[in-house]
Amino acid sequence: MSEGTRVLVLNAGSSSVKYQLIDMLDGSRQASGLVERIGEPAGRLVHTPPGGQRRESLQAFPDHGAALKAVAGELAADGLDLDSPELAAIGHRVVHGGLRFTEPTLVTDEVLAEIRRLIPVAPLHNPANITGIEVARALRPDLPQVAVFDTAFHTGMPEHAARYAIDRQVADEHRVRRYGFHGTSHQYVSRATARLLGKDPAEVNVIVLHLGNGGSASAVAGGRCVETSMGLTPLEGLVMGTRSGDVDAGVVFHLHRVGGLSVDEIDDLLNRRSGLLGLCGDNDMREILRRSEEGDADARLAFEVYVHRLRKYIGAYYAVLGRVDAIAFTAGVGENAAPVRAAATAGLEALGIAVDPALNSIRSDRARVISPEFLRTGGAPRVTVAVVPTDEELEIARQAFALVRTGA
Ligand code: AMP
Repeated sequence: MSEGTRVLVLNAGSSSVKYQLIDMLDGSRQASGLVERIGEPAGRLVHTPPGGQRRESLQAFPDHGAALKAVAGELAADGLDLDSPELAAIGHRVVHGGLRFTEPTLVTDEVLAEIRRLIPVAPLHNPANITGIEVARALRPDLPQVAVFDTAFHTGMPEHAARYAIDRQVADEHRVRRYGFHGTSHQYVSRATARLLGKDPAEVNVIVLHLGNGGSASAVAGGRCVETSMGLTPLEGLVMGTRSGDVDAGVVFHLHRVGGLSVDEIDDLLNRRSGLLGLCGDNDMREILRRSEEGDADARLAFEVYVHRLRKYIGAYYAVLGRVDAIAFTAGVGENAAPVRAAATAGLEALGIAVDPALNSIRSDRARVISPEFLRTGGAPRVTVAVVPTDEELEIARQAFALVRTGA
């Protein structure tokens, strides 16, 4: 077993690779970066060395193998050679682990074959994740490669939350059920929220709102996920940057039969041209807030649809949990957009939920409480509302390191 303490975290997309090199002695970032437009004539690598100047290189990366070699070159230039015994493992984000993968898993040929078998339920993500694993294995065949699954945290959901109410045989034959995604983030943030409250995760019930370009909510009871908003695919649930979130499945039949759209066109519409983008032409919350300020009606409506859906989920998850100790906002929108946090929680004092405007407007990259110290709730227990920055890469690194160090 390697005595190294560093973990390289890879998040491979269809045409991109994000990476971070983390030292598990103190969780510090040794380097991070991104390769974009893999397979296109003009690719880009942005590399940030430890405490140093960002370096950008523009060149073609014909495939993921070439991209990872270039990353290895950048790391070597900073004295962070991937051949170094300091490297203990490579941790891979894998989007879909189905029902089989409930824990971080050491990659073997058999594990890789199983991840491949899940491609029909994650056609956009798993192929790229597999490619990432394959090129990393080719680069360091001797090193443990650990797959950390976005779905894993949700595999403990009760059956009544995971089942769609459709014919069981059909559902089972095609593995149609609610898997949930962003699990690494929900797990990390729910624990960090417990820490912020000074409590053991086993004692607290948390609603986590992961609001990035993709978005999902989860209800976490005593450290276990009991409900989450994404389903078979990352399309269900909240309004997102370009995804619709919940729609009547009848919309699909209607668009096909009456609108004449093909299944692929509807897939593209709901996944890439809907959500905030579909409602107002922008998927970046910063733009939407700016346009709303200027009185733009489309941007205002997009904001209101987004926030209305969030409030529905807060109410629903309150009922699922019965008792809520904290609501945690996280990811790009959740961590930065104070107006979203204020609007999503407005008027909920009777549920013990409120946000203090002064605390909400403070900008910080630390976990912080934004609910008022005193609140008239009419008897409902007070809910702590918090902003808790997520760190999926650190969580992947931790899980990968724990696995190679202890086998747990
Ligand atoms: P993520 O997927 O977590 O990286 O989140 C990306 C999204 O966060 C962007 O598309 C923006 O909509 C949003 N975002 C980032 N910074 C801000 C900000 N300062 N205010 C509002 N939204 C932001």
